[in-house]
Amino acid sequence: MGFRNCFIFDKRFWLDIIFPNRCAFCKEIIPWDDYSCESCAEKLPYIDKEICERCGKRICICESAGICYDRCYSVVWYEESIRNAVVRFKTESPENFAVFFGEKLAEKILKDNLNIDIVTSVPSSIKVLRQRGYNQASELGRKTAEYLKTPFYHNLLSKKNSAVKQHDLSMKERAEYVKGLYNFSGNVSVKGKSILLCDDIITTGSTLNACAAVLKENGARSVICAVAANTDYINNKNDLQ
Ligand SMILES: [Zn+2]
Ligand SMILES: [Zn+2]
Repeated sequence: MGFRNCFIFDKRFWLDIIFPNRCAFCKEIIPWDDYSCESCAEKLPYIDKEICERCGKRICICESAGICYDRCYSVVWYEESIRNAVVRFKTESPENFAVFFGEKLAEKILKDNLNIDIVTSVPSSIKVLRQRGYNQASELGRKTAEYLKTPFYHNLLSKKNSAVKQHDLSMKERAEYVKGLYNFSGNVSVKGKSILLCDDIITTGSTLNACAAVLKENGARSVICAVAANTDYINNKNDLQ
């Protein structure tokens, strides 16, 4: 261990003394340099191979939803056991959740030898960002980018304030509504680049698809989506947070 890498330079070591480090899933106290307890990491509802590689859903929506992103990686099913952790990720302590899933997503992308030029995330509206203090999708994006050693830009896209609760809409209504919510910021050129787009959860795919469409309209060569949790839009529509 080099002097600079010594634990006394790691802020997590010192934070742990005041705020004991907790598992991202069950909230049990864990060692300061872990992200989850061993039992949760083992028991999570990891996604098997039975999803469409492109849209990322168990029942393919590539055609029916006019999917324009090129691939979607996800790590776990959005089931009972993980629901509280996903909700907490939006409202409190994002660090361990983001590191845990950032590492898992980066592993999948590296294993497939995908070349990613830029990592970005699904934006929150200014209003939501002010309420929560952070955007969980960009926390996940930042950590995934760290593992991939790729630049991360949190403000490539922006989102208008929205008054409508999207989970009250049907899949079709939602897709239509979401289309107009996202804009390209123009801060960095995406022309000819391969973009990794991160979010905490995929439901109908319409949010990721709307963001991917904006990136492609602005010249992105490919858009790969990376999400922590994945829910089947037919079975779990009423369970969405
Ligand atoms: Zn745990
Ligand atoms: Zn598909």
